[in-house]
Amino acid sequence: MLKERIYLSPPHMSGNELKYIEEAFKTNWIAPLGPNVDAFEKELAKYVGIEGAVAVSSGTAAIHLALRLLEIKTGDRVFCSTLTFIASASPILYQGAEPVFIDSEPDTWNMSPIALERALEDAKREGKLPKAVIVVNLYGQSAKMDEILSLCNKYNIPVIEDAAESLGSTYKGKKSGTLGKFGIYSFNGNKIITTSMGGMLVSHDMEALKKARFLATQARDPALHYQHSQLGYNYRMSNILAGIGRAQLEVIEQRIKARRAIFQRYFEELGQIDGVCFMTELEDTVSNRWLTALTIDQEKLNVNPVDIIKYLDKENIEARRVWKPLHLQPLFEGIKYYPHHENYSVSEALFENGICLPSGSNMTPDQQDRVIWAFKKVINQQ
Ligand SMILES: *Cc1c(COP(=O)(O)O)cnc(C)c1O
Repeated sequence: MLKERIYLSPPHMSGNELKYIEEAFKTNWIAPLGPNVDAFEKELAKYVGIEGAVAVSSGTAAIHLALRLLEIKTGDRVFCSTLTFIASASPILYQGAEPVFIDSEPDTWNMSPIALERALEDAKREGKLPKAVIVVNLYGQSAKMDEILSLCNKYNIPVIEDAAESLGSTYKGKKSGTLGKFGIYSFNGNKIITTSMGGMLVSHDMEALKKARFLATQARDPALHYQHSQLGYNYRMSNILAGIGRAQLEVIEQRIKARRAIFQRYFEELGQIDGVCFMTELEDTVSNRWLTALTIDQEKLNVNPVDIIKYLDKENIEARRVWKPLHLQPLFEGIKYYPHHENYSVSEALFENGICLPSGSNMTPDQQDRVIWAFKKVINQQ
C-alpha cells in the first residue's frame, strides 16, 4: 500500500484561526476590510519592524501596487531577479513596462550585484535607467542587500524587496522585506504562514501606503456618490482571511524553528554525500529555510533532478525543481538578461541541478526519514 503523500510545503494551522474567524462571524464583519485586517496589518508591521503595512489579496497584488506607487508606466524599465516565480515579474507587464532580468550569484542564489552593476552601467549609457529594481529573497535566503542597495542608491533607483518566501528571515539584524522602499509578503497556501491566499505591502513611507489603500479599493475619490479619477483595483484582503493571518503570525517563530530544524536534519543526513550541495546561509543573515534547496552533481551521482523527482513521486513524496529562470520562459522571449559573468549564467546552472525537498513545518520525523531514504536510494547511496 502506498504511504500517505508528503507535500512540499502544506499549510500548517495553529488552532487559533477559528477564534478570529468566529469573531468576524459574530460581529458580521464578512467583508474586505474590518478589525482583523487592521489588526493583522499592525501586528505584521510590528513583527518585521516597519512603520506600516497594507493587507492585500495576494503577494502579486502587493508587487503590482508597489510598481503603481513608483509610477511605473508603459515603456519604463524595471530590473528583476531572474531566478524566481513568475509573480515577481508579471506585474511589470501589467504596467506595460519592460523587464530586464538579472542573474543570481552563487553564494545566495539571489541577484548578482556584479550583473546588476553591468546592467546599470549599460542602461545609463543607453539613457534608460530602470525606474525600480525588484530583488527576490529565494527560499528564505536574503540577497546581498548592502551591495544591491548601494548600487541602486548610486543611481537613485528604488528597490522593491520580494520577500514572499522570506518572511521572518533577517539580514544583518533587520527583517527581510524591510530594507528597500517597499517590501512584499505572500500568504499563499504554500508559504511559511498562510491566509489561504493573501499578501502584504510594507514600507516606511506612510503616505505611500495611504495611496496603496486607496488604489487597492477601486481608487474611490472622497465624494458621496461613486467618483473615480484614477485607475484602481479590487486588491484588499478579506476580514475572514486576515483572521487566519493573525493566528498564523502568532506562531511564526515556531514555524521558522521547525523549518530550520528540517533543513538541519537533511543537511546532517545528506550533506556529506560527494555531489550534493546545500544552499548556504550568507554570513550575518538568518534564513527561515522556507524550502530546503540543494544542487546535485549529475556526473558524480549519475542522475538528474527529473529522475530524482520522479522517483520521489513514486514514493508519494512531492519534490520540485528550482524555479525555471524567467529569462528562459517563453513569455519573456527576447527580453534583456544579464548573467553573473559574461559567459556564465548561475541561475541556469541552479535550474539544471537544483531540487527543493519537502519542508513543511508540520512534517513528522518519520516523514522526513522517508524522504531521506528515498533520496539516498535514487542517488545510489543507500
Ligand atoms: C509566492 C510568490 C509570489 C506571489 O505571491 P502570491 O501571494 O501567490 O501572489 C511572489 N514572489 C515569489 C518569489 C513567490 O514565491
